[in-house]
Amino acid sequence: MRKNIVAGNWKMNLNRSEGLTLVEDVLSKLPVDNKTHVILAPSFVYLYKVAKMCSDIPKVVAASQDCSANEKGAFTGEVSASMIASCSARYVVLGHSERRTNFTETNELLKTKVGQVFANDLKVIFCCGESLAQRENGVHFDWIKSQISESLFHLSVEEFKNIVIAYEPIWAIGTGVTASTDQAQVVHAFIRNLLVEKYGNEVAEGTSILYGGSCQPNNAIELFSQKDIDGGLIGGASLNADDFVAITQSF
Ligand code: PEP
Repeated sequence: MRKNIVAGNWKMNLNRSEGLTLVEDVLSKLPVDNKTHVILAPSFVYLYKVAKMCSDIPKVVAASQDCSANEKGAFTGEVSASMIASCSARYVVLGHSERRTNFTETNELLKTKVGQVFANDLKVIFCCGESLAQRENGVHFDWIKSQISESLFHLSVEEFKNIVIAYEPIWAIGTGVTASTDQAQVVHAFIRNLLVEKYGNEVAEGTSILYGGSCQPNNAIELFSQKDIDGGLIGGASLNADDFVAITQSF
């Protein structure tokens, strides 16, 4: 059975003390019988500390928000997958639309990054999703298919088991506009069907597909009740412990 996952993407928010207080709050508010896999993606700067704070807590781990496409060397300011692994993180978020847009990350570059992540025994949360113009022009399915196939479909069945997909329509990220449950479910089912065609039923049924885009406590239950929505990648609401914990318990 696939995992229910809620991941918090802090983006470039919170200083060290605010971030560590948020982790303490989240951990103290999670119920003792928490069944959801919870992932916290802070800035690289606090990644080690956050990972250590979570290390004794069942089902809670840390992720980085990105990694370098290079193994090591003269890449000033970059952070390698090996550095991330050495900080006890377990996941790397790749291909967030903000990185695709602001840092011109291509499907090809992300394919290389996936290789770095796997070379260091980490897992990937792979983001995909269309712009409003692409949706209005009816090209969103083709777009999402190319994002996934060009960055991930070189992977073997065994490797693919370490992929989590996050469908994040760009028009819903940070806008307060959430995709309707139907809109989200249709795309999630489309993605799962892509996986059936490429990797077969077992992999497709075992892959967690998260929804991201203005997910809040007041819409998470309905979104997560959909057949192919296995949780969320949460931006803004992950900065508030009460909201984030409520979303983690929305299954
Ligand atoms: C995100 O950045 O991944 C995201 C989903 O943001 P928000 O929840 O703020 O829309």
